[in-house]
Amino acid sequence: MQKLLDGSKILDLWVIGFVAVGLAVVIAGITSGYFKARKVQPKGFKWKQFRFEAMIAVISVAFSGVVIGGAQTWLKNNGWITFQNEPASWWVIALEYAAYFITFDTWFYWLHRWMHNEPFYKWIHKLHHRSTSPNLMTTLSVHPFESFINGGWMVIFITIYPVHPAALALIVPTNIIMGLYVHSGYELFPRWWNKSWATKWFITATFHDHHHKYFTANFGGYTTVWDRICGTVHKKFEPDFVKIKDRPIRPERSGMVSAE
Ligand SMILES: [Zn+2]
Repeated sequence: MQKLLDGSKILDLWVIGFVAVGLAVVIAGITSGYFKARKVQPKGFKWKQFRFEAMIAVISVAFSGVVIGGAQTWLKNNGWITFQNEPASWWVIALEYAAYFITFDTWFYWLHRWMHNEPFYKWIHKLHHRSTSPNLMTTLSVHPFESFINGGWMVIFITIYPVHPAALALIVPTNIIMGLYVHSGYELFPRWWNKSWATKWFITATFHDHHHKYFTANFGGYTTVWDRICGTVHKKFEPDFVKIKDRPIRPERSGMVSAE
């Protein structure tokens, strides 16, 4: 029990650190003009859309809290979800984290592609796609059944395999940060990202932004691996990524005008 509390303390530290760093980054980004230059679709944000998404987000979060949270509590109370409380080496935690990362990425890609088929698209996934230029609120603006699909894997994973609380303290923030980043509408990753063999496998905001813009490509959740294997990477993804990174942060000073 003590170890479990330690795990949740790590989670608290993550949340506090995330909020503090996030606020500092947002203030620095706005004042320097960095965010304006890095917007994937410069004229894409619409307040009307944002308000609609906020309404759907409230419904979806309430549903997730009751259904997924309830299922998780029930599974924990009945001994289906347990944690490994013995001390573990860092590589055991890294392996548990990698196992979740890879399996979630696979789960998400295939179920996401499935949700793009009719009639499931119009029944479930179309709601999330009302935003053709995503923003942070789009992350939570999903049909309750879709939030069940997206959040369900973590519950299944920790039920099948009892992880260490430290691994869970990495998995939960990864879910939150990745969801928010890929829907942020701002490309933050460096220019060399898609050129490097080590990094091109991990998705970026532009990658998922293009999924919302073009609908029929870029289905991956964490990586581009399944999209590359299945040939579903949009042909404009890499050229557009470079275009965004070519935009000057202060166009008035360099005498250039932002693209689009
Ligand atoms: Zn989709």
